[in-house]
Amino acid sequence: MNPFVIGFDLKTGKSDDIQSTKRYLSDMKGMYFDDKALGDILENENPLVYEFYELDIPNLPSDLLFGTSIVYPGKVGNEYYMTKGHFHEVLETAEVYYTLNGEGYMLMETPEGDWYAAQLKPGKAVYVPPRWAHRSINCGDTPLITFFCFRADAGHDYGTIEEKGYRKLIVEGKEGKPEIIDNPKWNR
Ligand code: ZN
Repeated sequence: MNPFVIGFDLKTGKSDDIQSTKRYLSDMKGMYFDDKALGDILENENPLVYEFYELDIPNLPSDLLFGTSIVYPGKVGNEYYMTKGHFHEVLETAEVYYTLNGEGYMLMETPEGDWYAAQLKPGKAVYVPPRWAHRSINCGDTPLITFFCFRADAGHDYGTIEEKGYRKLIVEGKEGKPEIIDNPKWNR
């Protein structure tokens, strides 16, 4: 592999140079508000919800981690497929996401309770400031593909979201449009 140039396909987000990490629906238990809908799907199949290609770069504050994230289209009940979402272990570190394909939202919130839903669409960059948890949500019918970059020692804190959930959810509302609602399962 060329250490200076990495290939990512614009349409699929995939890379021939590195392996992806895959998250199947069975990895997402408890994360959607409709546990019954999730159980019903898992009785018949275990679809791939998202995957990401991330470079194996030394976890140094002086380095940068980057890659692509691909969230596939689909829903659990009326809640769109999404990533688990995370804070950074080094909370005071930021991240940038640039959308290559698809449409959706970057749902963000702080430990103090501020939240923001930033639209993800091709040609737009989303800045995730330090302290903000972030989760990508695919509201379209094609894969949502983003390119991300953050400080290499930031780390991922998935546990806080797994325990508490997000304050907000994005579901398919009336007329098939995305709607932001309070998470009935949010656990303060
Ligand atoms: Zn991150």
